Amino acid sequence: MPRRTIPVSMPDLSGQEQAYAAAAVASTWISSSGSFLDRFEREFAQACGTPHAVATSNGTTALHLALATLGVGPGDEVLVPSMTYIATANAVTYCGAKPVFVDVDPETWCLDPRRIEAAITRRTKGVIPVHLLGHPADMDAINAVARTHGLWVVEDAAEATFARYKGRPVGSLGQAATFSFFGNKIITCGEGGAVTFADPGLERRMRMLRGQGMDPARRYHFPIVGFNYRLTNVAAAILCGQMERREAIVSRRRGIVALYAAELAETPGIDLRRDAPWAETAPWMASCLVDPGRFGCRRDDLAAALADRGIDTRPMFIPIHRLPPYEHAARKRRTDLPVTDRLGSLGLMLPTYPQLTDDDVRHVCAVIREIGGAGLHRRWARAGEAAPAREPRAA
Ligand SMILES: *Cc1c(COP(=O)(O)O)cnc(C)c1O
Repeated sequence: MPRRTIPVSMPDLSGQEQAYAAAAVASTWISSSGSFLDRFEREFAQACGTPHAVATSNGTTALHLALATLGVGPGDEVLVPSMTYIATANAVTYCGAKPVFVDVDPETWCLDPRRIEAAITRRTKGVIPVHLLGHPADMDAINAVARTHGLWVVEDAAEATFARYKGRPVGSLGQAATFSFFGNKIITCGEGGAVTFADPGLERRMRMLRGQGMDPARRYHFPIVGFNYRLTNVAAAILCGQMERREAIVSRRRGIVALYAAELAETPGIDLRRDAPWAETAPWMASCLVDPGRFGCRRDDLAAALADRGIDTRPMFIPIHRLPPYEHAARKRRTDLPVTDRLGSLGLMLPTYPQLTDDDVRHVCAVIREIGGAGLHRRWARAGEAAPAREPRAA
């Protein structure tokens, strides 16, 4: 029997999500206020160990809202990794500021604290470390450099909701943190986001900016230019359902990544990131680096061969400093990010979602090993030698 196809991600909405969304509709509170919104903001702040959480329409608007609240504007520079989703840099651009790209650490794949100082200028205002693919960045080291230079720190935690750093939840480790609840993220409501922060002084301005700039004390009076970045009560209802199952969701995602690591540990040319000792991950996408020489074929050929076998994957992010909106400025600055470039060309994201079974993961890994073995056979055949016998391996 042919196997079903395996997508790269899928939301898990198997709890109260549907019932809560229906209750929100029945209540007629379907826009941007309602009891599910209040409940979600309260529970999410608590889960992140922060006094405040403000829900937003998506993770990109969460980033823009956080930066706008901190007063980022034209002429400012903000340090960001280039190895991230484009939204991290775009949010800086929306403010009229310039993203300046910093390389990532070869172990954690997150912003390298040792590379920050060299990128700081008079114009630098802040740093946005990204907890890439569910693994927290080295926040103590990043905060230490930021403190020395008077910079703020905003965590982009879009891919790492509920991850912990030295026992502390992401979202509580900088001046503010942003989250995404897109359909493929750790928890989801289709499109949604949030900003968490500790300073009560930020809350009033953030809520005003989120709600078109309206004065909370005077309805329909708008003292500043704001945005409409609100989340709906229907979406918040879905998130309340997700919150009830967050521990099961995160632990299943961890189990999947651990199984990929075990199954691929001895596969030549397939290298997985090892967790830092201080990291409790909330895995977004299990990922590996494909070394074509040792593995037998290139990353993109592996992805195509997997697709032929019904297994969907996703290439690692194209480094942002290589993309049209940013490459010119990066070249002018002589941006050189060797670790980022290496991850961008060798990295592959593998199917990761709670409903994926252990058998599915073993199947994906068996197909990867088979494709690698066949590739090496072709190479040796071309070189006119016999391929070495492959050791038998338990399935
Ligand atoms: C997904 C993501 C975002 C943006 O979230 P959206 O909800 O899609 O707008 C921002 N940063 C990172 C690192 C992401 O992975």
